[in-house]
Amino acid sequence: MRKVVLLFAAIAPIVAVALYRFGVISALAPIFVSHLLILYAGLVPNSSWWGPIARCFATTEREVWLTIDDGPSPAHTLQILDLLDRYSARATFFVIGARAEKYPHLITEIIIRGHELANHTFTHPSHRFWASGPRATAAEIDRCASQLRSAPDRPARFFRAPAGLKNPFLHPTLRQRNLQLIGWTARGLDTVLRNPQRVAARISRRVRPGAIILLHEGHRATSAPAFNLECIESTLRELTAAEYRFVIPQPPQLRVTGDGR
Ligand SMILES: [Zn+2]
Repeated sequence: MRKVVLLFAAIAPIVAVALYRFGVISALAPIFVSHLLILYAGLVPNSSWWGPIARCFATTEREVWLTIDDGPSPAHTLQILDLLDRYSARATFFVIGARAEKYPHLITEIIIRGHELANHTFTHPSHRFWASGPRATAAEIDRCASQLRSAPDRPARFFRAPAGLKNPFLHPTLRQRNLQLIGWTARGLDTVLRNPQRVAARISRRVRPGAIILLHEGHRATSAPAFNLECIESTLRELTAAEYRFVIPQPPQLRVTGDGR
């Protein structure tokens, strides 16, 4: 699909010129459709049009993968680690490189407590990442990776795009660095919703064995400092009651869709 979208974008102006004699609307139609395809590929979070994305993992057990984005955060990370201990849960923290640089002790603590770090860009440029060029894309990933390498752990294997937005240069950049793009099966919409029980209920409805769960930390730290923690705890409580275990899958277990061709 990647090649189809790029090829159509390349020939759309030529088609537009050829159609101009039928009127302006006819001429603009291929340009419009081409832009629509590019926007879909970049802006629809779990789209695999630009390249492969993992949205769940293979398992025969009642297992799920809890992923927590946007940390580390002094307001939440340590308390999240305590919650994970209480529920014997393991999780992957998709951290923002600039925050990892600022709070290295939290990065160390995540590793010591048996969890995993993953790359979520250096500055989390959620408004412009979908339109970033190759150099800016690589810089965001590499600057975050350099922060994670300074942590006492192996290099991160996974990447999640800020707000799930992708650009055409992302997948070649990830491939060169042996990073896998991770989407999700169930997100709590905890950056939008206000009620932790609704967030957990939304996740519970979408969860099945092998689901990837997306939650956040470090949000509303001043206005509602307990909110992210309550969302995570409600989710841990509900899914533990439903006999799910929280694990970190190995890369071969990931169910990857899209081949980037
Ligand atoms: Zn994020």
